[in-house]
Amino acid sequence: MPAGSQNGTALLATRQGTASLPGFAMTVQTWDLVFLAGFVVYIGIRHVFIKRTAGHEKTVRRLDALEKTLLPAVTVGALLLPLFYIASPWLAFADYRLPAFLPWCGTAFMVAGLWLFYRSHADLGVNWSVTLELRKGHELVKEGVYRRIRHPMYAAIFLFSIAQGLMLSNWLAGWSGLATFAVLYFVRTPREERMMCESFGQDYQEYMQQTGRLFPRIKRRP
Ligand code: SAH
Repeated sequence: MPAGSQNGTALLATRQGTASLPGFAMTVQTWDLVFLAGFVVYIGIRHVFIKRTAGHEKTVRRLDALEKTLLPAVTVGALLLPLFYIASPWLAFADYRLPAFLPWCGTAFMVAGLWLFYRSHADLGVNWSVTLELRKGHELVKEGVYRRIRHPMYAAIFLFSIAQGLMLSNWLAGWSGLATFAVLYFVRTPREERMMCESFGQDYQEYMQQTGRLFPRIKRRP
């Protein structure tokens, strides 16, 4: 029987008090709620842009078996496991204790991630898709948060996934988002860049030389 399955008190005991600062005590359950609030904002941003791009015709779609497997895996790791962890005691066997300052670092990662997530959707506008797709009249965006890096939205998801690990003190629910998204990122990014090169040719190749994937190039090529 997992900890806390009788009335939730054991669960409370395992999570309680593991992240407190002197004079500013915060239980990890509170951190669960802070994470949940960020999560609602994350889903809200996605929802707005799904609606905004809905009517724009797609001309290229590369949703193969690998993408079809990885997308649900990320949904489980980044959405279902954290929610299951917060709402039930069943993952308590994988709890651990975090130093008190780490959830605060997680909050900073989360705020930065949400800002970048919003900005990258806003800058891509109707060119955004959840998977590898191009739309009718697709434009190559090179400004805003796309000016120095090619994958700011993926950078934002990495930031959010690290926040998940720093705020939910559980090996499974904390790091499943980062683990699953990292696999998707390393599989998808070369394919996405190939698709963009095929569609935008020299323009995208030059853009690749001026930018980094997740971090700005220290020295831009002439
Ligand atoms: N990899 C980008 C975009 C993720 S959304 C990022 O992390 O910010 C994925 C879709 O965005 C792709 O299917 C592609 O159609 C589109 N896309 C990617 N980079 C783009 C760019 N610079 N300009 C326009 N569309 C882009």
